[in-house]
Amino acid sequence: MKTGGRKYALVTGGSRGIGRAVCLRLSEMGFRVIINYRSNDAEAENVLSMIRENGGDGELLKFDVADKAAVESSVAGWKEAHPDDCIRVLVNNAGFRRDSLLVWMEDNDWNAVIDVTLKGFLNVTRILLPDMLVSRYGRIINIASLSGIKGLPGQTNYSAAKGGLIAATKALAQETAKKKVTVNAVAPGFIATDMTEDLDENELRKLIPAGRFGKPEEVAALVGFLASEESSYITGEVISVNGGLYT
Ligand code: NAP
Repeated sequence: MKTGGRKYALVTGGSRGIGRAVCLRLSEMGFRVIINYRSNDAEAENVLSMIRENGGDGELLKFDVADKAAVESSVAGWKEAHPDDCIRVLVNNAGFRRDSLLVWMEDNDWNAVIDVTLKGFLNVTRILLPDMLVSRYGRIINIASLSGIKGLPGQTNYSAAKGGLIAATKALAQETAKKKVTVNAVAPGFIATDMTEDLDENELRKLIPAGRFGKPEEVAALVGFLASEESSYITGEVISVNGGLYT
């Protein structure tokens, strides 16, 4: 059982938006952060520099979460280089939208969104979970969405993926609770990131009781709590961060 060593947190899609804010928050909490991303090296390096400027440390781990072989070889390489360290926190955050009404939905757009969310969750969680179970400690936090609770028109692929992620969260939480590994989902509403850049905030804010889009840091604050030891009796939950949007 590995209980010593340095404490690491792995954040998928940690290079931009919500993932970046989560990386910074977890670093402030004392974790060494593994910043996963798929393509944008400059943004990932930027997050690592920000962490180091704040006195923390971490590393980059580039892979596509939907690519099982890439996930397995990257994580195996990390483990080999860190025989005494353990990943105590996993934030499954990587994701994107490919919106379209269902009648015009292309197979590629359906599959890509389902794969990044659900295969991504499976690939990364399955490879990190055994160490958490053996060490009898772990925090898994899945970034779902309002879309996965309520369903949003134009997002049948994204709603199905995030709804599936919520169901997987609830199921896995029951598998791992006795081993003190908690599994929770966070469901953001509209958060100001690259992903929502093309949305009309002035129109959409009228629907949001708080009257504005959320900030990535407002999601990261909750993720930080769920990643902490203090959240030990919360598992299988879905917590919304949406400025009061009815779900
Ligand atoms: P974002 O600003 O577009 O950032 C997406 C991040 O995910 C980037 O770091 C990107 O890395 C990474 N990524 C994308 N595909 C990947 C893959 N296949 N493998 C590894 N990394 C990948 O998005 P965001 O708004 O922060 O969203 C983060 C999460 O929150 C997503 O799961 C999203 O569905 C969810 N969410 C967002 C909102 C919102 O309003 N923003 C609302 C609800 C839920 P590269 O740049 O290298 O590709």
